[in-house]
Amino acid sequence: MTGASGVGKDTIRHAAMPHIDNLEFSISATTRERRAGEQDGVQYHFIDRPRFERMIEEDAFLEYADYVGDYYGTPAGPVEQALAEGRDVLLELELVGARQVKRRVPEAVMIFIAPPSLYELERRLRGRGTDSEEKILKRLARAREEIRALREFDYLIVNDDVTEAVTLFQCVIRAERARARLLSDERVAGFLREE
Ligand code: 5GP
Repeated sequence: MTGASGVGKDTIRHAAMPHIDNLEFSISATTRERRAGEQDGVQYHFIDRPRFERMIEEDAFLEYADYVGDYYGTPAGPVEQALAEGRDVLLELELVGARQVKRRVPEAVMIFIAPPSLYELERRLRGRGTDSEEKILKRLARAREEIRALREFDYLIVNDDVTEAVTLFQCVIRAERARARLLSDERVAGFLREE
C-alpha cells in the first residue's frame, strides 16, 4: 500500500484489518524521529543510521529507500516467515520501495491511496504539526511524484470518504484472494478430494 504521508493509510489499515483474516502488517524500520504517541515496535522499529546501514550491508531488508532525509525499510525476515506460514503481508511503502518489492515479488498487489486533492493533503500535513516547513514541502513534492506514477499500481483508492475507502480496501483483498490463476496446487487438490 503506497500513498503520501497524511493520506490516511494508517486509518484505512486500522479500520480494515480486524475484518480481514490471515493478513499481517509488516512493521518497518526507520531512522526518522519518533512522533508524539508513536511507540518503538508498534508503528515502526525506530533505529539509528549506523544500525540501519549495517542492516543494509547484511541484506536484511526486502526493500529500503530514502524518504525526505530518512531511511525506511522492510525487514525481510518477518515477511518471509509470514509468507512461508501461509499468511499475507501488508506493507506500507513509498514509491521507490514499492517498485523494489514489485521487482522481487511480482505477484505483490500494489494499492495506491490518493488524497482527494493535493490541497487537502497539504492541509492534513500542516494540521498534524509534526514536520518543519521544509519537510512539508519535500513531502508534498514526493506526493506529486508518486501521483504521476499512479498507473504503475494495480488499484487506486481515493481517500475522500474513509468508510468508502475502507470498504474498497477490503474488496480489493477479497477479490485478489479469489484469483483462480494464483491458487496453490494444494488448494486445487483440495477441491478434487471426493470424501
Ligand atoms: P512517515 O514518516 O510519514 O511515517 O512515512 C513516510 C513515508 O515512508 C510514507 O510514504 C510511508 O509509506 C513510507 N514508508 C513507511 N515504511 C516504509 C518502508 O518500510 N519502506 C519504504 N520504502 N517506505 C516506507
